[in-house]
Amino acid sequence: MQQTSPGISLEGQVALVTGSSRGIGAVIARRFAEAGAKVALNYNASVTAATEVMDSITTGGGDAMLIAGDVSDEVSAQETIKAVIERFGRVDILINNAGIHRDRLLLRMTPADFDEVLQVNLRGAFLCTKYVMPHFVRQHYGRVINMSSVVGLTGNPGQANYAAAKAGLIGFTKAVAREVASRNVTVNAVAPGYIATGMVEDLTEEQRNQILERIPMGRFGTSEDVAETILFLSSKGAGYLTGQVLTIDGGLIA
Ligand code: NAP
Repeated sequence: MQQTSPGISLEGQVALVTGSSRGIGAVIARRFAEAGAKVALNYNASVTAATEVMDSITTGGGDAMLIAGDVSDEVSAQETIKAVIERFGRVDILINNAGIHRDRLLLRMTPADFDEVLQVNLRGAFLCTKYVMPHFVRQHYGRVINMSSVVGLTGNPGQANYAAAKAGLIGFTKAVAREVASRNVTVNAVAPGYIATGMVEDLTEEQRNQILERIPMGRFGTSEDVAETILFLSSKGAGYLTGQVLTIDGGLIA
């Protein structure tokens, strides 16, 4: 049964969740709205799905806005932050969730496969963090959570580009955390393991069983598992926690 953290409130706060048209980002956005945050939903291509996420939030009495934009594009990242401030007057939480993968073994991986994955997963987080930070520093409060992965800690065959990007996010998290700690801004990363999204659903039954044998909890994670951890890291109560990487993997790499 899914466990939630009913006590955590984000009432009066504004959160930007990149890549929240579907997958884990959509679940984070809905959970944040449920906790009382006003949510800015960023997406790149999936306008219909993003609109459905926004409608589900507003139908439930929440407040949300949609922002189309490629996080790896500097102007687009700047415009995204500007749009949040224009609409909600402030921003308190940035979840750098947008991500892609282009999996291939190294010998077959093209420079374009490598660059594209680094651009979205790493440069995208850099740009959004860079352009939100002046607001966080000025208000002496902010939360940044970067979406890494266990493969950024362990590596994984066929994912040299993705693992490099996710490992890069960990160094980025730790460096920026040190830069802004004195301004009451925290910067942390989460490293999910196997989360039951489209990626896991595409595996064969044999592959799924092999993976499940390696997970001490004996189940795949859910997007809700990830959202609950991120909700905690985004809360005021996590104010003395910075520069950390929390693995959300059922004990996989414990
Ligand atoms: P997903 O279902 O593929 O969703 C990816 C999201 O990122 C979509 O909303 C997509 O929006 C958005 N996106 C892609 N490129 C973008 C860009 N250039 N600018 C803005 N948004 C962009 O992925 P997921 O499985 O939910 O994963 C979410 C995050 O968790 C990723 O960073 C992923 O690496 C990480 N993660 C996932 C797992 C897992 O098991 N699923 C495990 C560890 C880490 P559009 O559709 O509109 O393009």
